[in-house]
Amino acid sequence: MKTVWKSATVKLLLGFFTCLFIGMLSEQTFPLLFLYVLSLLCWQFYELYRFHSWIRRSGRSLPPDSSGIWGDVFDAVNRLQKKQRKSKKRMQQALARIEDSTSALQDGVIMADNTGRLEWWNTSAGDLLGLVKPTDRSQPLTNIVRTPEFFRYFSQKRFGDPLVIQSPAKEGTFLEFQTTLYSKNDHLIFVRDVTRLHLLEQMRKDFVANASHELKTPLTVIKGYLETLDMFKESLPERMQKGVVNMNTQSNRMELLIEDLLLLSRLESNQRADSDQWHNVSDLIQVICDSAKVFTTSEHFLSWDADEESSIFGSYSELYSAFSNLVVNALKYSPDGGEIDISWQVNKDGGIFCVQDNGLGIDPRFIPRLTERFFRIDKGRGSDTAGTGLGLSIVKHVLHHHDSKLDISSQLGFGSTFSCHFPRTRVRESSTPEIEAIDKDAS
Ligand code: ADP
Repeated sequence: MKTVWKSATVKLLLGFFTCLFIGMLSEQTFPLLFLYVLSLLCWQFYELYRFHSWIRRSGRSLPPDSSGIWGDVFDAVNRLQKKQRKSKKRMQQALARIEDSTSALQDGVIMADNTGRLEWWNTSAGDLLGLVKPTDRSQPLTNIVRTPEFFRYFSQKRFGDPLVIQSPAKEGTFLEFQTTLYSKNDHLIFVRDVTRLHLLEQMRKDFVANASHELKTPLTVIKGYLETLDMFKESLPERMQKGVVNMNTQSNRMELLIEDLLLLSRLESNQRADSDQWHNVSDLIQVICDSAKVFTTSEHFLSWDADEESSIFGSYSELYSAFSNLVVNALKYSPDGGEIDISWQVNKDGGIFCVQDNGLGIDPRFIPRLTERFFRIDKGRGSDTAGTGLGLSIVKHVLHHHDSKLDISSQLGFGSTFSCHFPRTRVRESSTPEIEAIDKDAS
């Protein structure tokens, strides 16, 4: 037992026996004992009152003077409160330091809860988005940044890639949003002013689009003359004949390149050639296979499998371009006798368009770079196939427009599989009763 409790017990018993002894001597045992217990009770009550009044003053003043068990209780509570005050002060100082450093950041930092309601933001975020304290606190971020792209990005949690959009507060300013989920799916959002980069990127896109467009006319003229020369090549010297054939091949390649560049520019600038509509996938694959067969001169076994009823929601010309690029690639990069399987499957997650070949295959270290513009694994490999290196880049952009993604798996020397994964909202099997719901969703 602790010393303080021992001495309190001794004092209590001493008092009790003294009262008992005096009471027995004076034949007043009961009244004396009663008086003793009553005085003990009053004293405890008084100490409790002092403790309560001290605690009510939030324990900031010195604790009341007391001895024994109550003195010990006062000291212990006082120590505890001092400790708590110190750690609270330390935490406040740390918080103030974090707030100071984030205020000094040029990039905006926003914290929002798991439903996207604003909790905290630094000065830069306030400036970039026009946030006002405390009015905007607890407001959903989608009420502040009211663009369809941001709504899709935030509500569908597409946080894999950063999003660049125009600032809702400053005209002509472009902002990049990068979001990370933390703790219980709360949002930590970094906002960066990327106006300069965006304008440079826009200039580059405009330059490519304009240059490609301007090159089209002279190339058509050159091609016209080359075709005429080709018609009369028999009358030309042998060395010239070779040159004409070569020039014809290269001008065709240039034409392909310009067409791909123009298509890529259109896709990058979100100019849609046609609006999204439902298309029968089986019919689309049939058309692609027919034109792909014309493209290849070598012997390939082309087979395809798709549910005749199934449809996809998207732009016909873009989907045609993406799917035919994959099919043509499979033909280009498979030697004679190669087998190419095209399939369309629908499952609970959506639809998968898949092109599988048993051709040259791809070294796994090149797979992450395949969708880069002008990336070709082995320029020598493609010289006879006249590729532009833009095909897979076009596929990536088209799939991005259709909220979908490309998966590539391959083994060098054994073939490759390219799969396009479409979300459930863009796919329907006519036999299912959900058609109407999907129709509404998609529109
Ligand atoms: P290209 O016009 O050169 O075909 P792409 O962007 O379509 O350009 O493809 C990029 C590169 O990826 C190609 O140069 C080729 O090396 C490789 N590639 C694409 N598809 C296949 C495939 N099915 N099998 C093997 N390699 C492929």
